[in-house]
Amino acid sequence: MIFLKTEDEIELMRAANQLVAKTLAEVGKHVKSGVTTKELDRVAEEFIRDNGGVPTFKDFPNPCGGTPFPASICTSVNDVVVHGVPNDTPLVDGDIVSVDCGVLLDGFNGDSCYTFCVGEVSEDVAKLLDVTKKALYEGIACAQQGKRIGDISSAVQTLCESHGYGVVREFVGHGIGRKMHEDPQVPNYGRKGNGPMIKSGLCIAIEPMITMGSPKVYMMEDNWTIKTRDGKPSAHFEHTIAVHKGKLEILSSFEDIEKAK
Ligand code: MG
Ligand code: MG
Repeated sequence: MIFLKTEDEIELMRAANQLVAKTLAEVGKHVKSGVTTKELDRVAEEFIRDNGGVPTFKDFPNPCGGTPFPASICTSVNDVVVHGVPNDTPLVDGDIVSVDCGVLLDGFNGDSCYTFCVGEVSEDVAKLLDVTKKALYEGIACAQQGKRIGDISSAVQTLCESHGYGVVREFVGHGIGRKMHEDPQVPNYGRKGNGPMIKSGLCIAIEPMITMGSPKVYMMEDNWTIKTRDGKPSAHFEHTIAVHKGKLEILSSFEDIEKAK
């Protein structure tokens, strides 16, 4: 069941997503060679709580029956696609790290992810990040009232596959609101004109998870970390958007992240 949001609810969604955006920017300031992802997690948790939010991912129940998620952000390095658990391994120049952040504020959730470069990355990794981010915005551009979820999916898939990249099938974008994951699912692959109709009040997280090689992934023994099977790097960019008043609005933002670069 898709919960369409009122203007008042979208206002709260906007606030939650702005806090996510500011948290990601804060984390981004600390991304450099020698820093551990556990340190990034501490920065995020402190920032979220200082601003009155609750990190949604902390103690998030494990869908595979394992232990709950132990941290406030997911930090997915290089060949980790999603759900990387912050650890004590220092980042090194040339790494990429996808920081996925969820915040609950005043009863509503925000959700956004940005893949950061640690120092200089190789040209082909930089291109993977560029194309994945572009795919996110091309998907968002299709999230117009009266279109269908499949229009978003198709736009993301078409661009990424035209570059020979893999589109991960096992994980998808989602509706978002009082719960982090609501209906509808928003896959990064699909056909134009298919799927649920986009109506006013729809709030969804669009989040291409794109690999440099094969789209095949596997889960590590911690029951969280998802890696590419071929060991090639993977990128992940995510925005939460709302469709309302006949327009689409991106509720999260990369502006502060990119201003700080
Ligand atoms: Mg996310
Ligand atoms: Mg999400």
